[in-house]
Amino acid sequence: MKKIVVIGAGPAGCTLANWCHDAGFDVTVLERADENQIYARDKAGLFKASSFRILDELGLASCAPAKKMVTMTRFISPAGESITVPLAELTETQGRPVCPQTIFNQNLINRLRQKKVVMRFATEVMAIKQEKNPSVVLANGETIEADIVVGCDGNRGATRAALRLESERHDLAYKWLVMTANPLAGVDGVIYGVGGNKFACHSPRTATESRYYLQIDQDDTIDEWDDKKCSIELKNRLGVNDSLRLTAKREMLLHYRTPLQLGDRSVMLAGDAAHIVAPLGGQGMNMALEDIYALSKLFTFYLASDIEADELVPMYEKMRLSKIRLSISFSRKLLAMTHEGDGYALQALADDRTAATQFAHSYVGTEDVIEAL
Ligand SMILES: Cc1cc2nc3c(=O)[nH]c(=O)nc-3n(C[C@H](O)[C@H](O)[C@H](O)COP(=O)(O)OP(=O)(O)OC[C@H]3O[C@@H](n4cnc5c(N)ncnc54)[C@H](O)[C@@H]3O)c2cc1C
Repeated sequence: MKKIVVIGAGPAGCTLANWCHDAGFDVTVLERADENQIYARDKAGLFKASSFRILDELGLASCAPAKKMVTMTRFISPAGESITVPLAELTETQGRPVCPQTIFNQNLINRLRQKKVVMRFATEVMAIKQEKNPSVVLANGETIEADIVVGCDGNRGATRAALRLESERHDLAYKWLVMTANPLAGVDGVIYGVGGNKFACHSPRTATESRYYLQIDQDDTIDEWDDKKCSIELKNRLGVNDSLRLTAKREMLLHYRTPLQLGDRSVMLAGDAAHIVAPLGGQGMNMALEDIYALSKLFTFYLASDIEADELVPMYEKMRLSKIRLSISFSRKLLAMTHEGDGYALQALADDRTAATQFAHSYVGTEDVIEAL
């Protein structure tokens, strides 16, 4: 039986580990955090329609129960003008599925537990050794050898650093507050307040909670933004009158990381370990699922053929690098529309049905990722 070590028990690592177990690998998952710390990370929520197809094909669709759909997105200018893109209507779908990352991650972990996959929490990988087979070195000095190692260990993981892979990092001169509060009444969509360094966003999560983003000056700190000030500013920028009760608030700096490589010999990267996008347009977790889908195709080929594990990386890079660039460029297009005053692109969404339809398909993720690989 071929052995695979998956580093990281986030969405990428747990999706991969589930599939690898079902495909017949001997799987070990190593996770630095305690299990409860994983469930406390409230990050993604917007899935793409294509990601649901991927999960379906990987046999994991029930891990992401979508209780809400994003059927439209709206852009509000500082002067109160609004442009609405009817996503569901333009794509002839139900829109974009919403499921909190925490619920998805917990369901994936529960599924791994039912399958009796070895999962070691509070276990930090410190280094990777590349000898005949790859191995990982843990904080306690223990070494675990495998046929394949996949680093799904996020932005601050050990794998990318150990492999010294090339990537391009682009830091943005924007600071956000990321908040949780009650949802806007009667809104089944993402609302962006745009322009004039006054970005704001409402993104649905559950029946009782939504995610909110608020751009603040680079020199501002969270202490200068009490809940009342945040709530007033959100309402102004989003053009709503709801009374907002904040339940969580933190600062966030934004950056992109575009990979030029995705692995070395029998060690590969997937998810945030490989690439980072600012959370504009909900791309990051969806890109992670696309990586895992590509790996599932490659590993199926590996199990059925005579190829060596260290031949997989060039194939993986061929399948994924250009697609990753496309997802990052979509997020950057949204950044230009919402932060950098790209009024032409915004106005085109209002005036040109073809432009709006193209945008809606990219936003909802109707492109056939499964056929594209
Ligand atoms: C505010 C916010 C909102 C977002 N909204 C969306 C959205 O709506 N849609 C979307 O698609 N994406 C969204 N994203 C992005 C999404 O959350 C990430 O892309 C996603 O978490 C990536 O999953 P991952 O498994 O690759 O990485 P992670 O979730 O970061 O998991 C990596 C895991 O590796 C572990 N680890 C790290 N180092 C080590 C080590 N040395 N040894 C062992 N384990 C290690 C970590 O503890 C962690 O559990 C959002 C992100 C943020 C911050």
